[in-house]
Amino acid sequence: MRAAVIPEAGAEFELVDRAVPTPSPDEVRIAVDACGVCHSDAFVKEGTFPGVSYPRIPGHEVVGRVDAVGDDVTAWSEGDRVGAGWHGGHCFSCEPCRRGDFLQCENADITGLTFDGGYAEYTTVPAEAVAAVPDDLDPIDAAPLLCAGVTTYNALRNSDARPGDLVAVVGVGGLGHLGIQYAHAAGFETVAISRSPGKESLAYDLGADHFVDASDTDAAEALQELGGARVVLSTAPSADAISSVVGGLGADGDVVVVGLPGESVPVDVQHLVGTRGSVSGWGSGHARDSQDTLEFSSLREITPVVETFDLGEVGDAYARMMENEARFRAVLDV
Ligand SMILES: [Zn+2]
Ligand SMILES: [Zn+2]
Repeated sequence: MRAAVIPEAGAEFELVDRAVPTPSPDEVRIAVDACGVCHSDAFVKEGTFPGVSYPRIPGHEVVGRVDAVGDDVTAWSEGDRVGAGWHGGHCFSCEPCRRGDFLQCENADITGLTFDGGYAEYTTVPAEAVAAVPDDLDPIDAAPLLCAGVTTYNALRNSDARPGDLVAVVGVGGLGHLGIQYAHAAGFETVAISRSPGKESLAYDLGADHFVDASDTDAAEALQELGGARVVLSTAPSADAISSVVGGLGADGDVVVVGLPGESVPVDVQHLVGTRGSVSGWGSGHARDSQDTLEFSSLREITPVVETFDLGEVGDAYARMMENEARFRAVLDV
C-alpha cells in the first residue's frame, strides 16, 4: 500500500510502499477513502508528544470501509462505512474505564500517534475506536468531523447552554466554522467572534446571528451588550483571544477552550467570581461521540469547508494547514 510516513521527529513526510497491515483479533482493517489533516498531526511530525515511536503514519480523521475484521470483533463487518478519530481505543480496565469514562482512560491509544493512522491506503484500528459513517455523508466531508467536528459538537452539547441561550464561538477557522454551524443547529443565539472582518458574511452563512469584529471591537463589551454569554467556545489558539472574552460571560457563563494557545492565559477572576463563571477545557470524544457527530451532521446537513489533496501532496496539505492558509480543513483523498 501507499503510505505517508514521518521517519523521525522533525523530518518531512516520505511516501513509501508498505505491506498492508493485518488486523489483530480485536481490530478492524479500514480501506481508507479520506483522511483529514489536523493541527495535532504536528505532535507526530515535530515529536512534541511523549511516547511517539518512529517511523509513524499520522492521521486521525480517517474515513473508509471495513476491509477485514479480527477474530474477536463482533460489532463490525466487511463493507461497513466507518471512521476513526483522535480517541484510538481504551483499556476497559483502568479506574476511569471501570466507571465508563473511556475518554479519560489512563492507557488510551491515539489514532495516528500511538499507532499508524490514516495517511495510507489501509490502517488497522481497535474495534472500540470505530464509528459508523452515515450513507449520505461523503468521505471527504466526513473526515474533518472525526476531530474538528466531534470536538466542537461534543463541547457544546456537554455545556450547560440551552436553546435560546447566547453562545459565542471565537475564531472562524477549522474548528470555529463547524462550531458556528453546531451552535446554530442546537438552537443557540449564536455569535461569531473573529479578528478577520472579511469573515463576516461567511459567519452569517454558517448560521451566526451576530458577528463581532474583534480587530476593532471589544469582544467582552459586545457580548455584554447582547446580554452576556452562557457559553463561549474558544477555537482560536490565542491566549489574548481567550482572555478577551472572559468579561463577556453572563451569569454561570463558561468559556470552553478547545483550541490550545500553547501558553498561559491570564484570566479576570474578579469577573468569574461576580458571575459564578468559569474557564474550562474540552477535548474530542470517543467513537460513539464521533458517530453522534456524524449522525447529527447528516441530519442537519452540516458539512465542513475543505480543500482536497492527493496522498502524494501531503506535504503541501500539511504546510497550508500549519500556515493557517487552508479554508478551512485540508483533507487527503486517499
Ligand atoms: Zn485533530
Ligand atoms: Zn482505561
